[in-house]
Amino acid sequence: MSNPILTTTGGAPVADNQNSQTAGPRGPVLLQDYHLVEKLAHQNRERIPERVVHAKGSGAYGTLTITGDITRYSKASVFAAVGKQTEMLARFSTVAGERGAADAERDVRGFALKFYTDEGNWDLVGNNTPVFFIRDPLKFPDFIRTQKRHPRSNLRSPTAMWDFWSLSPESLHQVTILFSDRGLPQGHRFMNGYGSHTYSMLNAAGERHWVKFHFKTLQGHRHWTNAEGNAVIAGDRESAQRDLYGAIEGGDFPRWRACIQVMTEAQAAACGFNPFDLTKVWPHGDYPLIEFGVIELNRNPAHYFAEIEQAAFSPSNIVPGVGFSPDKMLQGRIFAYADAHRYRVGTHYEALPVNRPRCPVHTYHADGAMRFDAPQGGDAYYEPNSFGGPVQDPARAEPPLSLSGDAAAYDHRAGNDDYGQVAALYRLFDDAQRARLHANVAAAMQGVPEAIVTRQLGHFARVDARYAEGVRAALAAG
Ligand code: NDP
Repeated sequence: MSNPILTTTGGAPVADNQNSQTAGPRGPVLLQDYHLVEKLAHQNRERIPERVVHAKGSGAYGTLTITGDITRYSKASVFAAVGKQTEMLARFSTVAGERGAADAERDVRGFALKFYTDEGNWDLVGNNTPVFFIRDPLKFPDFIRTQKRHPRSNLRSPTAMWDFWSLSPESLHQVTILFSDRGLPQGHRFMNGYGSHTYSMLNAAGERHWVKFHFKTLQGHRHWTNAEGNAVIAGDRESAQRDLYGAIEGGDFPRWRACIQVMTEAQAAACGFNPFDLTKVWPHGDYPLIEFGVIELNRNPAHYFAEIEQAAFSPSNIVPGVGFSPDKMLQGRIFAYADAHRYRVGTHYEALPVNRPRCPVHTYHADGAMRFDAPQGGDAYYEPNSFGGPVQDPARAEPPLSLSGDAAAYDHRAGNDDYGQVAALYRLFDDAQRARLHANVAAAMQGVPEAIVTRQLGHFARVDARYAEGVRAALAAG
């Protein structure tokens, strides 16, 4: 079989891909050598802006298989029948590191899922933790700044991190998980995923329930200590990518049990804490897990950049039967994620093969970067029109969500217990886990001014006296 002929992007055959055109063997090169110009110009454009957060990631395709009937909660077609399978994409990531960062760093992991359902893409853009550091999206840019590099030194700043955390007690739950064993998974296969936010489900009768999503690893939890993680990084900066890619190439497909917790609207109204607060979990004892499916990752992408770097997950992607909730962080992300993709990938990012819904798409969105398909609307290029263009379907409207209250900037810290659920978690740990937590916190506090450390120890003491004492002792031990 003969090789295909190399061409320019315009399709013209290329005569020489080894030598530029020059005026004589010593140069200079000729500007008319368009093949040279095109190669250089393309290389200049091979990167798109990396994600501000979650820049370093790995992804794979797979399937969601429904194993439990939850149609009493949701009319979404994805849940329609036990045994139903839906194609999906998952992307896992660290949060703070840049695109070339090492995988085995202590950090929260992104756990983003895209289900290509019959009725549109449903994205669950969660983490490997059920909670988050903040509960108000207004704090997000400040919080992320503390995780990235200091503007002067260009170094990560433990001072900035602990300053922000110690001034934001709502972060304590997530901080405790981050510095516990689960803060450094051995790979993406060995951790749980959580939708984290509260979402809603609507059933065929139009009844609304509030739900949380959980994905329990069937590979078992595996974590590294700081020392083990450092040793891994010294030998392999891509340990999580290598693990996931290799497992799938070898036919060892990772799986997670997909579950929901459910709260009725009446239960939410009576709930002692705000069930839409992203810094809180719903205790399993009160809201037991209900299994509805299994996700399995079984196909590596053919092209990392095309399919993973350009993968665009957004909590704004919901489908009939799955909806939003009053969670302030969710509402902020509904805007921010799609906006980020328009910026970093392009206006029509959802037309790319990896992002394209597998069901028909009918919009009136017009031109712009990457309008590479030709809309077939003919004369129906605006709405309303008399030419048979797509129209709304009032039957798809969600039942109204009753809201009340005066519009104001409410203090999101007022009346919130930032310590009780952290204490419940701390009590789950055995002595060895607590000792590692204390040591991990102390290690991350090296060089942080004493006043900030003291303020943070005050928060630990409010969780459990042993927490503050343990960290203090670990700090003293150096
Ligand atoms: P449960 O005892 O019913 O649940 C405890 C949960 O903690 C389990 O889901 C377990 O996950 C998880 N867990 C165990 N070790 C760790 C760790 N090192 N870091 C993070 N999570 C861990 O208790 P409750 O539901 O009443 O929750 C008690 C505390 O557990 C909460 O305050 C919260 O901090 C934490 N938690 C609760 C979750 C929830 O949705 N209710 C989810 C995750 C954590 P697994 O099943 O995989 O072993």
